[in-house]
Amino acid sequence: MGIQIPRPFVAYQCERSLVCCKDPIRAPCDPDEEARIAALLARTELGRARLPILHAGFDEVQGVRAFKQVDHDCVHLARSGELGPEPACHLHHEAGIEALAPACRNYPRWVARVLDDPSAAPVASASPDAPSAHESSPAHPEDTIEAVFLLACPTAAKLLVRDPAPFAFVEVTARAFPFAPVRDERAPFALSPEPAAPTADLAAIRQLRHAWWSYLAVRRDDPAHLLHALAAWYVHPLEALAPSDPAPAEILPSLLDGLSTVEARFVIDALENLPDRGPNYGLARWDIWRDLTRPISARDLIAACDIAPQLVAAFLDQLVAFLGLHDGRPVATYLRAMVRRALALIRGADALIARVPFAIDTLFADLFVAATHLEPTP
Ligand code: SF4
Repeated sequence: MGIQIPRPFVAYQCERSLVCCKDPIRAPCDPDEEARIAALLARTELGRARLPILHAGFDEVQGVRAFKQVDHDCVHLARSGELGPEPACHLHHEAGIEALAPACRNYPRWVARVLDDPSAAPVASASPDAPSAHESSPAHPEDTIEAVFLLACPTAAKLLVRDPAPFAFVEVTARAFPFAPVRDERAPFALSPEPAAPTADLAAIRQLRHAWWSYLAVRRDDPAHLLHALAAWYVHPLEALAPSDPAPAEILPSLLDGLSTVEARFVIDALENLPDRGPNYGLARWDIWRDLTRPISARDLIAACDIAPQLVAAFLDQLVAFLGLHDGRPVATYLRAMVRRALALIRGADALIARVPFAIDTLFADLFVAATHLEPTP
């Protein structure tokens, strides 16, 4: 069976921004992977010199074993001038691409498989922002493999910005996509966190996603309608799952509150971690912080969304792609979190516009990166 990937990312090629080798992104690596990497390093003198750092270089983040970081950089990241003019990965340099842990090789791809074999045990993992690597169980012809791309990678964010057409998955062959699943899932998927709530199979989840993509496709130039759809989604996440045209809902006052200081820090830090961000992000830091954390009126929110509603819709398309298969939370919980991320994106546009130049090639690519780092309270 082919592998489904979102069309905007078919041409993805790593541009070595290396944001994935720095805080807040952590690279998981389990003991089996450590042993495999050690065996590859042991083949050369340079690699053998790396072994003590490899074995001592782990800590645990939210229960996931990951490479340690020193001064916010992965312990294996060589700074400019150490291995060449550009920053580089020691493991890659000393033992080739095979010496990378699966999470490092895959990033920013987040590859999930829905197991067809009911006897196979699913492998739980952390959130997509902290992917966990594991040995894949054998493929079955009826397994479904889907990949989504994490917008915390500036290259992926740029590709999405450049292709704000209605969203679609396309099928590629396994040969064209040699990236192993890091998450195994099995239907049915929980729709709500309530006990005994209904569940959905894969076909139903795909129908829901298609309904939302079709809805967003026809509302790409209508900021007020987009925001009302988001509000409806937040209040009635399951009823509003497959809207033909949801009734305008009041925008809840809680959605107009400022971001919490923790949330605003995620956004600011993500912006500051972008490569080549220039000095102005630092200079505007407190102004951006103030705008993100102050309450906003519904009118201002709509005006901010009006800057580029089709790009807000593209961001939502991308978030919908994660539904069910790629995010372990019940669908209703995920949808609420998604609304908060979308609102953070819109507020960020309001805070940044005319204040700072773009680090990537458009404002929204920067904001896609920043809003993706936000892990809001559902
Ligand atoms: S091991 Fe290498 S590729 Fe992976 S996060 Fe560290 S520096 Fe980056």
